[in-house]
Amino acid sequence: MSHEERYRLDESRAAMERARTVIPGGVNSPVRAFGAVGGTPPFIVSASGARLRDLDGNEYIDYVGSWGPMILGHAHPDVVGAVQDAAARGTSYGAPTPGETELAELVCSRMPGVEMVRLVSSGTEATMSALRLARAATGRGKFVKFEGCYHGHGDAFLVQAGSGATTLGTPTSPGVPGSVTADTLLAPYNDVDRVEDLFRRHPDQIAAVFVEPVAGNMGCIPPAPGFLEGLRELTRRHRALLVMDEVMTGFRVARGGAQERFGVTGDLVTMGKIIGGGLPVGAYGGPRGIMETLSPAGPVYQAGTLSGNPLAVAAGAATLRKLAEPGVYDRLEALGKRLEDGFGEVIAAGAHPVTLQRVGSMFTLFFHPGPVRNYADAKACDTGAFGRYFHAMLERGIYLPPSQFEAAFLSTAHGDADI
Ligand code: PLP
Repeated sequence: MSHEERYRLDESRAAMERARTVIPGGVNSPVRAFGAVGGTPPFIVSASGARLRDLDGNEYIDYVGSWGPMILGHAHPDVVGAVQDAAARGTSYGAPTPGETELAELVCSRMPGVEMVRLVSSGTEATMSALRLARAATGRGKFVKFEGCYHGHGDAFLVQAGSGATTLGTPTSPGVPGSVTADTLLAPYNDVDRVEDLFRRHPDQIAAVFVEPVAGNMGCIPPAPGFLEGLRELTRRHRALLVMDEVMTGFRVARGGAQERFGVTGDLVTMGKIIGGGLPVGAYGGPRGIMETLSPAGPVYQAGTLSGNPLAVAAGAATLRKLAEPGVYDRLEALGKRLEDGFGEVIAAGAHPVTLQRVGSMFTLFFHPGPVRNYADAKACDTGAFGRYFHAMLERGIYLPPSQFEAAFLSTAHGDADI
């Protein structure tokens, strides 16, 4: 019997019914509910390497990787060992630990422009705190974000946000006061002229430009040649900060993230996902002069009971150490290329207007003739066709992000046969 014929989700369906009675929508993060593609999400019970297993015993090749963190695959022995060791010594102390400094040193040594880093517990916390810091550093209130880029669910960022907000058709959320988003300025991705226009219209008022250096939250959209360089030049000229949101791309598209891959360095960098190795860690960093304005070294307040949690920093450090081994990123690139070439053959042989966009080990198959350069292009995709494709793949044991507006990820645990 083929995977497709055997495929059942009876146990997952029952689990979803139970979850829905005590968790809104049955999930703790919206995209997991399959709202964009319909049907029931498989409830996952275990994972190893590139494989996931669900409650009904179905196995999948995983191209979600927990939305980015699992670059080494699931249950990597180095990461599991580090977490077990840390847990046996106590799970949290609320006091400084050597593990935090070790992770901070690994981050500072790899991420361009980061001399000091503050650890938090999520990407959302990192971007919210970076915005506060940028406003404090410049004494200005406004900031620029790009349509379709997602920087977590902080109130000020929830305007034309990508990811789940796009999927659910709620670009802004009830509960976010207009006064909080009044200082959020928008521009289309890959359009430097529109940013220049914003600087002209709001002289000396813009604290920062936030950008996903490769957009991942409206599907995978690479920066057009000159886009990041243009932002760098404009922000410098107008004495605003360029904030590279590397929550998704950091340690993913190169050892030193998108900044290294594209050769453009921001003033502040936000990170998450991979630096926690699958446990909750976020971080923001930059030059000493700005970072030392943070409390307690300086007056800008930010804190966290579980920040720098011993288990989380152990998992993150184990992951980053593994990623320092020679050839890791070459292998991820080769896997990505193989996948892209394979798709290229299928696309050329078929009659469907689809296009694959990839940067390293992140990619999206857009149901659009391409190229997809910004949010308007992404929204023109045939999401109905994507949904049918998604379910056909799932039934065949391929677990993709359940939305057209998300990036898929490869890991070092994927083999040529998986691809
Ligand atoms: N920034 C970017 C670029 C992201 O991709 C995400 C999450 O997907 C975030 C920020 C928010 O991170 P978190 O979900 O850990 O709060």
